[in-house]
This record gives sequence, structure tokens and C-alpha cells, in this order.
Amino acid sequence: MELVNLLTSSVITPLQPLQHELFKQHQIEVWIKRDDLNHPVIQGNKWHKLKHNLQYAKQHGKDTLITFGGAYSNHIAATAAAGKAFGFKTLGFIRGDELANSRSNWSPTLREAEANGMQFRFISRSAYRQKTSIAFEQPLQAEFPNSLILPEGGTNQRALIGFETVITQLQRQCPDWTHLYTAVGTGGTLAGLAKMSHDHLASQRDIIGIATLKNAHYLKAQMTELVGFNDDPSNHPIRWQLRTQYHGGGYAKTTEACIADQLWFERHFGILLDPIYTNKMVHGFLEELRQQKIPPKSKVILYHSGGLQGRPEGVDREGKIKTG
Ligand SMILES: *Cc1c(COP(=O)(O)O)cnc(C)c1O
Repeated sequence: MELVNLLTSSVITPLQPLQHELFKQHQIEVWIKRDDLNHPVIQGNKWHKLKHNLQYAKQHGKDTLITFGGAYSNHIAATAAAGKAFGFKTLGFIRGDELANSRSNWSPTLREAEANGMQFRFISRSAYRQKTSIAFEQPLQAEFPNSLILPEGGTNQRALIGFETVITQLQRQCPDWTHLYTAVGTGGTLAGLAKMSHDHLASQRDIIGIATLKNAHYLKAQMTELVGFNDDPSNHPIRWQLRTQYHGGGYAKTTEACIADQLWFERHFGILLDPIYTNKMVHGFLEELRQQKIPPKSKVILYHSGGLQGRPEGVDREGKIKTG
């Protein structure tokens, strides 16, 4: 198969039923879509967001991928791995200039990205906020004329198309699903799932994003722009919603309740969650179930977006995030 086709071909990941008394009591059915198993190196939603961008870069003869992220960004790790696998140089702009001279404080993510050949530029938090400005991008394009610049989290219109395979696979695996829960960072995954549902499905669905960052309300406007319609439920059979109350203190922070739900889930179903995103997705889903927000007869899909590559070193046995 040609490389460009290889980039967008997808394995069919399992849709696993989750059986539990709690779900019976609420008269709902629950499945987990195992997209943590979709690609050996570039796992989960990051692969979906990258694949059409990689194809575009190949077709347009680009030799370098440039992107942005924090020291624990799964997108940074994924871009570095993709560069190595598909023959691109990679450059990562990392938030936090204090990291430039303190290699010993580098996260496992940064070390792994470096091992995959990524070059870094560490920039201050204020410079990082300017990364999408013309004043930042123009000199960068001039310095690397043959590069593709990917935004933070890899979220752009090409990224959204990557979720088409998820929706079409679900169409075969459980055509009458009613609810889908996914974790939200930059919102690209939620936007992609909502937009591809809109393009492929006719009947009503609720696609619910659990924000993992604090004060994520600002994402709603960006989401509306990406998806092409807003979250007004009267508008459209495909209803997307952003829940902003389950962040547990913010990015990479957590609460006792969230840890308890994660451990409960992992023990009962034998499926690992990551400590930043899918743990909060599961916690948010369980909270909504306990609050009777999911009607009887619902068929709920939990979207496992991956993120497990950071887990062995990144968390302790309680599922808490190790810092430093
Ligand atoms: C990056 C990431 C997310 C967030 O995806 P966005 O498209 O940025 O919202 C969710 N889950 C996992 C496992 C991730 O690595």
C-alpha cells in the first residue's frame, strides 16, 4: 500500500460491552470504544487528529512538522513518534522556558519525544500565548519554508475528518447508540465526533464532552466554529455539549472522588484509564448517571481516547499524577 493511503487506513477497534449492576439499575447499556488500541505507537485520538495532516504533509512535500504543547502533552509525544515513523523532522515549542536549562526536570513525555528525534524550543508562558499570532507564525514559516505547522493539540479541520472512522465503525458496531462521552482538552476530539456524526447520522444523538481543564467555557465558541453549529439542543438532531464541572481542579489535577471512580472502573472492567483525560471522562459519566441525567434505555458509548503511553512513569499506583 502507498504510504499516503497507509496513513489514513484504520484498524477496527473493539467496542466492548461493560456489564455492571449499576448500569442495570439505571436500565442503560454501556460500551467502551477502545481507540487506545487503534495504533501501536500513536495512540487514540492523537492518531485520528494526525493522520490526515500527515497525509497532507506527504502530498505537499513537507519535510518538517512543527507544533506546540506543555511538558506532559500527549500531542507532543504523538507528533514526535509520527515524525519518526513517517519520515518528518519534528520541532516542538514547549511552554515553560525554565525547562531549557534543566534537563533533569524533563517529563517522561519530553524525554520520549527527544528520543524520537524531536527538537525543542522552550518558550515563556507569555510568548506561548502569542503562538497563533501572525507575528509569531510568519517568521516561523520563513525559517522553515517546508514545514507544516500544527496547532496545539493538533486540532484543525483536517484533524476533525480523522474521526470519520470512529463514527462509521460505531455505525456497524452499535448503530442505535444514543450517548457518547469523550474527554476534552482542546476540543478537537469532541468537535470531530460531533461533526462526523452530523455528516453520517440522521437520528438524534447526544455527544458529551467532559472538560479536563478549569474554566473551559471559552471552548464553546471555538467548538461552535469547528463543528459548524452550536450547542443549542433545539437546533439539531446531533447535540453536542461541553460539561465544565468535572475538571477536578484543572489539568493533571484530580480529586478523591475522581480517583475512586477510576479505581472502581479499572478493577471491575480490567481496562486502564489515563490519569489526565479518560479518568475524568469516566468520572463525569458516572456522576451524570448518579444524578439521574441519563434516561433509561440509553445506549452509552464511552470513548477511550488513549493516553496510556504516559502512564507507567507518569502515575503512582493510586492513579495519582507524579509531579517533578
Ligand atoms: C489529548 C487527549 C485528549 C484531548 O483531546 P482534544 O482533542 O484536545 O480535546 C483526550 N484524551 C486523551 C487520552 C488525550 O491524549
